[in-house]
Amino acid sequence: DQRIISPQKCSFDEGDTDRNLRPPSLSEFTGQDDIKESLSIAIEAAKQRGDALDHCLFAGPPGLGKTTLSSIIAKEMGVNIHITSGPVLEKASDLAGLLTSLQENDILFIDEIHRLNRVVEEYLYPAMEDFRLDIMLDSGPAARSVNLPLKHFTLVGATTRSGLLTGPLRDRFGLQYRLELYNEKDIVKILMRSARILGVELSEEAAKILGGRCRGTPRVANRVLRRCRDVAQVRGTGVIDERAALKTLEMLGIDSEGLDPTDRKILAMMIDKFNGGPVGLGTISAAMGEEPDTLEEVYEPYLLQKGLISRTPRGRIATLNAYRMLHKPLPKSLFS
Ligand code: ADP
Repeated sequence: DQRIISPQKCSFDEGDTDRNLRPPSLSEFTGQDDIKESLSIAIEAAKQRGDALDHCLFAGPPGLGKTTLSSIIAKEMGVNIHITSGPVLEKASDLAGLLTSLQENDILFIDEIHRLNRVVEEYLYPAMEDFRLDIMLDSGPAARSVNLPLKHFTLVGATTRSGLLTGPLRDRFGLQYRLELYNEKDIVKILMRSARILGVELSEEAAKILGGRCRGTPRVANRVLRRCRDVAQVRGTGVIDERAALKTLEMLGIDSEGLDPTDRKILAMMIDKFNGGPVGLGTISAAMGEEPDTLEEVYEPYLLQKGLISRTPRGRIATLNAYRMLHKPLPKSLFS
């Protein structure tokens, strides 16, 4: 997915410059203060004891810093990080290979951990709990179970859908954190820091404007900043000032509320076709031609935060704010 607003990872921000933009330490990581405080205490305590850090789960929408925090933990613990993801670990042997290669206190990072298959997941339980691996060798009458001791390690899991995690897996994480969308002040700080690293001047007014229009998501902020840099370079003075920022946002179709064309389409569709709801996610997704996952992970959190939709047991509804924002006549049902 190459849309600018999509917080999903994509090729153009995985290059060298993006690696430079990743904060290397907790002190350079902006926002999420409670998580940082809790993590720094847990890290310090584990280091004092010479132990591996407790297993740690990060949940929250894409692009908020789950991967970044995991590599910061590794750095602060002074250990190696091995990165994989749920869908990549297809067979128990894939997991066994990884687990047996870990050194004492190393970190195994499993992105999209909600997409692990059940067989692999069950091998994880004893590995996480007792640092051992029970594997079956051969099959049929010759089958025997072998018990392999593992080095103490830390499993760091990241998920955009914590609701899909099984209870037994979730319970095995001693540290559990939920990342929330960032507030404008923090996004402004991140934009200023990224601009400094990219070597481009960003005016305070421009940063303020952009701060409110990047979905509270650092990955989106960095992407929008790059497009601003292009516009400033080609059309302007090379400085990202108010004019360059506004021009870029206009080109990207991001409005003054920070909504992109898909956000507005979702709201208009809910109002025009479904009388503002309640309407189920599956129905919205079919009407939009968007994956339900993308709707739930990428679009919904922002629309919820903006107070433009709300969730009810019977489905999503468009709020009065949404009607006002799109200049739609209010539905009669609201007055009854
Ligand atoms: P996730 O794993 O949650 O999808 P990432 O850790 O890959 O998100 O972060 C996406 C990008 O946003 C990273 O490249 C990083 O540069 C930037 N980023 C994330 N969180 C922060 C933060 N708190 N401060 C500065 N930059 C951040």
